[in-house]
Amino acid sequence: MTAAGRTVVVTGAGSGIGRDIALSFAAEGCTVIINDVRLDAAEQVGGEIEASGGTAVAHGGDVADEASIQSLSRLARRQSAPVDVLVNNAGLADSLTPTIEQELGDWQRVVDVCLRGTYLCSRQFAKDFFLPQARGRIVNIASIAGVVGLPMRNAYSASKAAIVMMTRTMAAEWAGRGITVNAVAPGYIRTPMLDALVAAGRLDEAVLRRRIPAGHLGEPHNISAAVLFLSSDAAGYINGVSLPVDGGWCAYGAAGDAFALDGA
Ligand code: NAP
Repeated sequence: MTAAGRTVVVTGAGSGIGRDIALSFAAEGCTVIINDVRLDAAEQVGGEIEASGGTAVAHGGDVADEASIQSLSRLARRQSAPVDVLVNNAGLADSLTPTIEQELGDWQRVVDVCLRGTYLCSRQFAKDFFLPQARGRIVNIASIAGVVGLPMRNAYSASKAAIVMMTRTMAAEWAGRGITVNAVAPGYIRTPMLDALVAAGRLDEAVLRRRIPAGHLGEPHNISAAVLFLSSDAAGYINGVSLPVDGGWCAYGAAGDAFALDGA
């Protein structure tokens, strides 16, 4: 779907959705620059890509740290081809504590990784690659939590809602310069982040499934498919949108369950 030979940067690609996005671009013949806060996780995914004949470069660094994003851009500059696509995927779950009990530092860290990280990466790669080459694609990973209010997710929901709006503001600013900026808003997707919340008793999978019209959680490849489409030539005139990929979760507004589980 995405032309072979392109160079793609994916943040937070050492796990879950980001890992699947990186593997999917590699399967299309793209060179993938894999960022993760844990270098070993980035290297592991890079190793998987190299083992299947692809090309990958690993970068360890925190997306909330400007110096680290500058080093990611310098690493990309050292590759032989320009960067074509940036996927701002790195994110952190909220502490899921009642508002009046949440530590301000926990709130700030979620905002820094989700929102500041998306801002810093977009700004850096637009300045260093997309604006000078008058071409580029940015795909941000938002969330259904940025579309509707979910209790005890102030930092996460506010950050994701801000990403939806920043997607529009950057698209509006750069559309005339050959750049598209779009977002994908995942619903509940089976990843280590979600598994950890279920294991800790913070989320109940059966309750989630009853609220999803499709009746099941999404898989990382559902998100990768949307990201690859928004990065493709076919999506060249789509700009500033946030596409829910959620099994119908955002569409459902009736009272009661959206899906009847067997035996429920
Ligand atoms: P995940 O499995 O936890 O993967 C996220 C990756 O990002 C991890 O490898 C994580 O490293 C890394 N990361 C965390 N902070 C970082 C930082 N400051 N700089 C660079 N990398 C960092 O989570 P996921 O479920 O795949 O989530 C990926 C994206 O999808 C996030 O933006 C999330 O908000 C969004 N999303 C997920 C769901 C869902 O249901 N899973 C739903 C809606 C939106 P560590 O493991 O070391 O923290």
